[in-house]
Amino acid sequence: MEDGHNFVVDQPPPAPTEEADHNAELDNNNSREDVGKMLYGCEHYRRRCKLRAPCCNEIFTCRHCHNDAKSALSNPKERHELVRHDVKQLVCGVCNTEQQVAGICSECGVKFGEYYCEICRFYDDDRTKRQFHCDDCGICRVGGRENFFHCRKCGSCYSVDLRDNHLCVENSMKNHCPICYEFLFDSVKGTTIMKCGHTMHMECYTEMIHQNQYRCPICSKSVLNMSRTWERLDVEIEATAMPEEYRYEVPILCNDCNSTGKAFFHILGHKCKHCNSYNTRMIGTGEDPQ
Ligand SMILES: [Zn+2]
Ligand SMILES: [Zn+2]
Ligand SMILES: [Zn+2]
Ligand SMILES: [Zn+2]
Ligand SMILES: [Zn+2]
Ligand SMILES: [Zn+2]
Ligand SMILES: [Zn+2]
Ligand SMILES: [Zn+2]
Repeated sequence: MEDGHNFVVDQPPPAPTEEADHNAELDNNNSREDVGKMLYGCEHYRRRCKLRAPCCNEIFTCRHCHNDAKSALSNPKERHELVRHDVKQLVCGVCNTEQQVAGICSECGVKFGEYYCEICRFYDDDRTKRQFHCDDCGICRVGGRENFFHCRKCGSCYSVDLRDNHLCVENSMKNHCPICYEFLFDSVKGTTIMKCGHTMHMECYTEMIHQNQYRCPICSKSVLNMSRTWERLDVEIEATAMPEEYRYEVPILCNDCNSTGKAFFHILGHKCKHCNSYNTRMIGTGEDPQ
């Protein structure tokens, strides 16, 4: 203090301008807000806070941590899921102060997450996931807002390349994946929409295709353009005539176009005369040849 005073007498330092003062304060705030960034969290999210679950009054880093713990309880009556919008209190990961939901700690001033959604009470320091909140879905999603659109009929966000390019199924995503039975709408795993409009996890779909299953598990329609496969079957059937005693017609129902008709019996399959699909089943007699 004394030294400083002497110095001032010699040559007074320029008074800080408002601008400089302001920047200094910003720098200060920024560095305080950034304390611990990316250093706290769980296996699901990088965040500098924990949530007090309103349902059981316990503290968890995120709702997935809560749900994993609570769905594993031996007593089925105690199993439950956290309703994200109901969270009211959280605990700062840096200073441990419990407080009302906010973006910045009222005690130590850190940002609880670089991304913060007030509606979902959702925090994440990892912005590379490109989180955004969809008002129509009512939840936060990842992957960049510009890459998605909300289809009002399907009631969910889809990738922009599906705009005007998918069959709408009302509330298609408000269902469980037909393969693994997880609820799709707020699943953190990627989902895909099949030609029929039904949806499932991308990884479950890929697994299904690997097992040579090409029919939607929900409606049995072909999930891909199968015309090449049907052409190959045409050739194979042409080349392998059935023995005389099996040359009769059977009634069939087409899974793809829903029309009924008749086809000559063949062990390789029965072709729909309306849409050329072999994704058909015999009706009345016999079993499904596929
Ligand atoms: Zn709970
Ligand atoms: Zn704090
Ligand atoms: Zn949100
Ligand atoms: Zn949406
Ligand atoms: Zn749609
Ligand atoms: Zn699945
Ligand atoms: Zn389907
Ligand atoms: Zn057909």
